[in-house]
Amino acid sequence: MKKDIVIIGGGIVGLNCAYFLQKAGRQVTIIDENDITNSTSFGNAGLLSSYDKTPLSYPGVVTNTLKLMLKGQSPVILHPTTDLKIYNWLTKFILSANEKRCKKTMMLFEKFGEISLQFYEKMIKEDNLDFDYHRDGMLSVFTEDKSYEDKLKKYNISDDDRFEILNHLQIKEYVPTITSKAKGAILFKKNAHFDSRRVMSELKRHLEEIGVEFILNERVEQLDIKNDKIKYIITSSGNLYKAEHTIMSTGYQTLLARQCNKELVMTPAKGYSITFDMPIELKPKTSTLFNDLFIVMTPRRDNVRLTSKLEIGSTDPKVIQKQIDSIKNNFFAYNESFDMKNEVTWTGFRPLTPNDIPLIGKDEKISNLTYAMGLGWLGMTFAPAIGSIISDLVANDKTNAQSDGILMFSGFYQ
Ligand SMILES: Cc1cc2nc3c(=O)[nH]c(=O)nc-3n(C[C@H](O)[C@H](O)[C@H](O)COP(=O)(O)OP(=O)(O)OC[C@H]3O[C@@H](n4cnc5c(N)ncnc54)[C@H](O)[C@@H]3O)c2cc1C
Repeated sequence: MKKDIVIIGGGIVGLNCAYFLQKAGRQVTIIDENDITNSTSFGNAGLLSSYDKTPLSYPGVVTNTLKLMLKGQSPVILHPTTDLKIYNWLTKFILSANEKRCKKTMMLFEKFGEISLQFYEKMIKEDNLDFDYHRDGMLSVFTEDKSYEDKLKKYNISDDDRFEILNHLQIKEYVPTITSKAKGAILFKKNAHFDSRRVMSELKRHLEEIGVEFILNERVEQLDIKNDKIKYIITSSGNLYKAEHTIMSTGYQTLLARQCNKELVMTPAKGYSITFDMPIELKPKTSTLFNDLFIVMTPRRDNVRLTSKLEIGSTDPKVIQKQIDSIKNNFFAYNESFDMKNEVTWTGFRPLTPNDIPLIGKDEKISNLTYAMGLGWLGMTFAPAIGSIISDLVANDKTNAQSDGILMFSGFYQ
């Protein structure tokens, strides 16, 4: 079957690539092994928080993580493994955790994060999509004296447009359940949040309306490569698709990239969410990051979501109750107790690169293949920016070198 553009993987990244390519006049087909109702793009926190966002690999990450591990509050879990790729990833992660790299990454986050926010706002306005989107800041709550003091040193110059340091009364107004054990909080005003599940279903509906084709519940098993071109995309249903161009956006899964002799340096990092009903008077006023615990609490129209944990070395898709209990214990150590009514637990895998920079761009050998991978813990934040970069690259037949977006924001060139 002949196709124009085939996108393998209909997560937030695949859907955004489809959005921009279809609007650029190409005919897009998305193939997904599932029915696009529960990938990593659905169960996440929905923070769009690229402003004042420290990368995961920040200076001091190793000592801070070890300290939290000793207190039994660490969100990071490292499973013992014989997989050398994970040690390679960890080495690169530790090497990235330096001041210079951290500053550069924070600048890139702001640049591409703002581009994405503007695209999301345009989709809401012009395409009439309901994302339950709110650009009313992200509250960062500190539970450790040291990290709060360090942050205050950084934010000692007043900047009313960007942030506000809240007193205890104001913190309580933002997060009614919080106890006096919290050390302090800063409101980062430029950030936003939305309801990821709603975003995914609204985007998919819109893409269907504008003519994007969806082939669901078919796993791409093999890419048949001849003369440095993908000749056929072969699926679990035995179908053969022939595409002008293929975009790989398979989230944390790297099997197909390996068939193309591309070793993507990224690792699945398992995370959890708990979604529950909460009386309106207890809901936080905006998205709240418990900074030292790596727990996010996001208010949504119908409910509230808590997310946490970063588990490396596991690809077990099951929800492990011990991890859910640990999230709750950490959360309730700083919040008054309440019932999490109609609780729904979920788990998914972040496609995590060692330096938080995505792996995007055309394959240097296979001329009709482009990667849109490695969005890590910030895929919802950057997906529209990535979609527009990929669309510009493919629709305008550019090389990687001709794309500013690729040169600046692709881990292939850093
Ligand atoms: C707990 C948690 C909290 C998070 N919080 C945030 C947040 O607040 N803000 C933020 O910006 N990001 C957040 N993230 C990260 C974000 O969710 C991810 O970066 C993003 O969802 C990745 O999108 P994706 O499209 O790359 O992958 P996915 O959503 O995983 O989509 C990949 C798709 O590819 C399909 N697929 C894979 N292989 C094949 C194949 N061979 N054939 C066919 N289909 C295939 C899969 O079925 C899937 O549908 C969080 C992640 C987690 C786990």
